[in-house]
Amino acid sequence: MQTYPDVKLFINGEWRDALAGETIEVTDPATDEVIGKIAHARKADMDLALEAADKGFKVWRDTSPFDRSKLMRKAADILRERADAIAYMMTREQGKPLAQSKMEIMGAADTIDWFAEEARRTYGQIIPARFSGVNQMTIKLPVGPVAAFTPWNFPINQIVRKLSAAVSTGCSIIVKAPEETPASPAELIRAFADAGIPAGVVNLIYGIPAEISEYLIPHPVIRKISFTGSTPIGKHLAALAGKHMKRATMELGGHAPVMIFNDADLEKAIEVTAMSKFRNAGQVCVAPTRFLIQDGVADQFMEGFVKAAKAIKVGNGLDADTTMGPLANERRIPAMEALIQDAVKSGADLKTGGNRIGNKGNFFEPTVLANVPTSAKIMNDEPFGPVAIVNRFSTYEEAIEEANRLPFGLASYAFTGSVKTAHMLGRQVEAGMLTINHNGLALPEVPFGGMKDSGYGTEGGSEAVQAYLETKYVSQMN
Ligand code: NAD
Repeated sequence: MQTYPDVKLFINGEWRDALAGETIEVTDPATDEVIGKIAHARKADMDLALEAADKGFKVWRDTSPFDRSKLMRKAADILRERADAIAYMMTREQGKPLAQSKMEIMGAADTIDWFAEEARRTYGQIIPARFSGVNQMTIKLPVGPVAAFTPWNFPINQIVRKLSAAVSTGCSIIVKAPEETPASPAELIRAFADAGIPAGVVNLIYGIPAEISEYLIPHPVIRKISFTGSTPIGKHLAALAGKHMKRATMELGGHAPVMIFNDADLEKAIEVTAMSKFRNAGQVCVAPTRFLIQDGVADQFMEGFVKAAKAIKVGNGLDADTTMGPLANERRIPAMEALIQDAVKSGADLKTGGNRIGNKGNFFEPTVLANVPTSAKIMNDEPFGPVAIVNRFSTYEEAIEEANRLPFGLASYAFTGSVKTAHMLGRQVEAGMLTINHNGLALPEVPFGGMKDSGYGTEGGSEAVQAYLETKYVSQMN
């Protein structure tokens, strides 16, 4: 029998209620039903977590990378063994179809494995000295206890990148996981706990996001911040981190352009982008958003893309034939409606969708808007929902200008049969990630991060490990 649990805090190796006994309710976005509750941390709980993280760091930094790696791979295996039960929890709290939940969990296990290996290769350098008898070297040391803040769209995936990078390098961590989707991330933490991670290395809390970040970021125990969420909150937290001289990684909002050229394989472009656009009901920071289609293929693309959008089966993520679940939060429904109404009022054509489905659960139609003027709000604000904007362009220069128009620079997509065009895009698109003729984003071994207002730092690839390390220089005379 699959069940949805009540969720506790994990502090100093123990699952515990909040000291004041406060809780927060959890709602199923497909049914509006209250399905559980989580322990709500306040300052006194945070003090315990900080004390634990401080103590855990001192133990873990002196544990060899070899032993850290072994423990991490054990945690990854535990996660894989429990994937079906955890996928059920994730779908209940977040809404995404079960298959997508399971994929997220299996992907998280791969991420843990990858970081477990990578952190064994955090080499320093021997630097040739000017004088004989002098040895100059750099060594890599963990930065210290980390405070991580993660959102509800990928309840496990958003945490596992921060957690794995921190734990692999010898840092301890306090995770403030999403209150809307708390049970599946707690299972990620449980995998580490059950694999035998020492008390205090990994800590998990929930509460009021602003209350927690305002307390943890300035706290002297915390040495690094990692946040995933919207650009306005990211700027606020980055400023706070700056004020207290804390290192920070910021993975923020996007507004991904998708450039489809006349020489593209159109069938493939439609298949790949329709799948990426409506995955997780569009609540993905790297989701394709502004489709820019070259004149010669624009009508054909629109016909195929609208057909693909209409073929999506919206429903409860627990039903086997569902391909798109509800929006995770009720507040996204009025946000979608307002953006669509504003676009239509500005002159856009609504090709399909545009409405909430039913009045129970947060279901919304896969939506396609065409000919949207740049003055419309949706052309400038991240929609973070199942809405695609499909506009046209004539020349390469026009496409690049529109692609780079916004302050965001997270993901970007292109489809072209020309190697020259692909090469130029690689240099000229202002985005942290560009994927051409397929969707090749978000694997553990490749960088994941943005530029401009989409933040800084990367959460994948070798660079992600460096973000949790200090480079110390040591000079020694014999
Ligand atoms: P929001 O800006 O209120 O919250 C986004 C995330 O930040 C949530 O997880 C929230 O708990 C956290 N947060 C908010 N205020 C915080 C604070 N002061 N300190 C620490 N954490 C804080 O928006 P929302 O309604 O939850 O989501 C909608 C918007 O958030 C989207 O438009 C999108 O831009 C952004 N978002 C981005 C991602 C991503 O993957 N980059 C994920 C989820 C949401």
